[in-house]
Amino acid sequence: MHPVTIIGAGLGGLTLARVLHLNGMPAVVYEAEASPTARAQGGMLDIHDYNGQLALDADGRPEALRADLRRMLLDALPAGTVRWGCKVSGARALIGGGHEVAFADGSSVTARVLVGADGAWSRIRPLVSKAIPEYVGTSFVETYLFDADSRHPAAAKAVGGGSMFAPAGDRALTAHRERGDTLHAYISLIGDAAHLLAPNGEGANWALYDGAELGKSLAAHPGRLESGLDAYEQDMFARMSRADAETAKHLEETFGDTIPDSLLALMPEHQQGH
Ligand SMILES: Cc1cc2nc3c(=O)[nH]c(=O)nc-3n(C[C@H](O)[C@H](O)[C@H](O)COP(=O)(O)OP(=O)(O)OC[C@H]3O[C@@H](n4cnc5c(N)ncnc54)[C@H](O)[C@@H]3O)c2cc1C
Repeated sequence: MHPVTIIGAGLGGLTLARVLHLNGMPAVVYEAEASPTARAQGGMLDIHDYNGQLALDADGRPEALRADLRRMLLDALPAGTVRWGCKVSGARALIGGGHEVAFADGSSVTARVLVGADGAWSRIRPLVSKAIPEYVGTSFVETYLFDADSRHPAAAKAVGGGSMFAPAGDRALTAHRERGDTLHAYISLIGDAAHLLAPNGEGANWALYDGAELGKSLAAHPGRLESGLDAYEQDMFARMSRADAETAKHLEETFGDTIPDSLLALMPEHQQGH
């Protein structure tokens, strides 16, 4: 059986590889970073019950450090599944079927089933779409306060045990406490490569969900890969159109002209009080 070729070892690509592995389907993941520890992975993720938790089959795990989650997914794969230091420079369709994936070091591989899980600036997306990321008008500046309780007690007190939103005009301060022959070829996209959303705390959750759904769909259509990809994509397009519309609404509610009232209306305590 040809292995499924996945580009990108983010949460989406690793979840797909894991679900395929559980279903006895081989996969290879090519990742640009040199090793699993090449860079810090970012902070705490809320794992939602309608996407991320379903993908992980993990009830009652509302928060997880992104690095812990990635490590857990890596540890659950057979050794050698992820090929580190393999930066894709481009991909092209081959006459007669299949796709050639080219790497920055000049090497290449041929893929029968190719999945772009390589994030916002996907090198695989141009094979199926002309879409490129667009600036949505909101910029985030990110910083970390380490040892906040002892070194930054006022800020730690203001944030409390969860999240803080402090909107003011067109700005806002937000904080979160952490802890071949005639080969037919197939391409699909998952995660940010498929549907880059403006930041709304959902992208990693949907990447996990996509990875799990594509893996299950491929496993559910043995010998009929195209049907497996098609079923996943139909569902993904419908659900992510809804998520896109919700993202625009969410941005307006949290950073738009109607704050703070629209932001307060999202808080359960406030809803109960009114
Ligand atoms: C500051 C910030 C905070 C966020 N907070 C949240 C949150 O709280 N909750 C939430 O749900 N989402 C959050 N998101 C969104 C979330 O990070 C993304 O939606 C999610 O990581 C997408 O997962 P992915 O697997 O599709 O892609 P990625 O996580 O981007 O993974 C892509 C992988 O592909 C690799 N890659 C890229 N290019 C190549 C190449 N050319 N060749 C080989 N490999 C390549 C990358 O190195 C990376 O490992 C946040 C995003 C940011 C920037």
